[in-house]
Amino acid sequence: MKTFNVPVIYRSPLISAIKQQRKQEDRMKKDFTPTALDFGPLKILLARHFGFCYGVENAIEIAFKTVDENPDKRIFLLSEMIHNPHVNNDLLDRGVRFIMDTAGNQLVPWEALVPDDIVIIPAFGTTIETENHLASLGIEPLKYNTTCPFVERVWNKAEQIGKKNYTVIVHGKPKHEETRATFSHSQSNTPTIVIKDIREAEQLAAFIKGEGDPETFYTLFKGQYSPGFNVATDLQRVGVVNQTTMLATETQAIADYIRQVMIATYDLTEETAGDRFADTRDTLCYATNDNQTAVTGMLQEAADLAIVVGGYNSSNTSHLVELCEEKLPTYFISAAEHMVSAHAINHWDFHHKKELHSAHFLPEKEQVTILLTSGASCPDALVEGVIRRLLSFYQLEHKADELVTI
Ligand code: SF4
Repeated sequence: MKTFNVPVIYRSPLISAIKQQRKQEDRMKKDFTPTALDFGPLKILLARHFGFCYGVENAIEIAFKTVDENPDKRIFLLSEMIHNPHVNNDLLDRGVRFIMDTAGNQLVPWEALVPDDIVIIPAFGTTIETENHLASLGIEPLKYNTTCPFVERVWNKAEQIGKKNYTVIVHGKPKHEETRATFSHSQSNTPTIVIKDIREAEQLAAFIKGEGDPETFYTLFKGQYSPGFNVATDLQRVGVVNQTTMLATETQAIADYIRQVMIATYDLTEETAGDRFADTRDTLCYATNDNQTAVTGMLQEAADLAIVVGGYNSSNTSHLVELCEEKLPTYFISAAEHMVSAHAINHWDFHHKKELHSAHFLPEKEQVTILLTSGASCPDALVEGVIRRLLSFYQLEHKADELVTI
């Protein structure tokens, strides 16, 4: 896979050494067991896959290169480039400004932009409406485009099945930038609806079966379907694509469920299911899959707690937290400094969107075992920081340097 020129501050010699060794031992990526770092009183089980994915590295390379090469220009990002505060703040420090916040609220009015300005499209991509708006301002919308190719692959699949008269069901968070972008691209070709979870898939199934009152559909899914969506005719042939950072297993469960509903409703067989249900399995993102499978692999091991590092508004990171929470006390932190001491940690509760303070998060026992991973937008340097801080609680920080030479 292509390698990118990412600022060295985001790299970690320690993590790179571990990743390199694992890669050499398992080139086909078949082994999802964690890497065990045994320091005596502290044992860290590091996920097999974590950290920057292809799309994030691609976006970082383009954004920083654009800043370096255009010292005399005003540079804007449509919104946060990725969901990591450290990376976004570094760009803000270098003079880049965000036009919108993550919810789509305008921070810089469109009228303030001039044709000479540079506008960078973030890794999530953007809507066709925004592209058109930029073009109307004389700004070439795709000149500085960091949209991840794996997101574009979803758009291409949606277009492909849309042209074959399938309605597109997007499994995603309706307000997330990527889902808004995918929705926009898909609805330009075919009726499109966003569902956020299996519960909404079940609600949608009632309308596929013709059981629901159409008026209820328009209330239930308000703001989530394309203009002119006809519940009576637009649910007869469908395909499911996803916001790439959703739980892959949930997307698969939703797709399998809707497929079965189509088979039952239209009296199809496994062979004829494709007449009404499009196969979209090849759109799942490799990084989301690898990181989530690595967490599942890590959770097979006995441990006392899990720490997940990443931006608090990062969708892919919160799904890793969700997986860990099913089994262990889990602490979601954006950087090492949130571990205030061996006894206190400030961590994010993404369910209720608030910071929590927990005491005695490290149990007092002969050996504490911690599962550790990070989201696809989290620099490895932050994970190294977490390892070093944990080691410092046991006066073992020097051990981190020994690992670099493994
Ligand atoms: S998680 Fe996947 S789709 Fe999203 S930016 Fe990374 S590689 Fe691209």
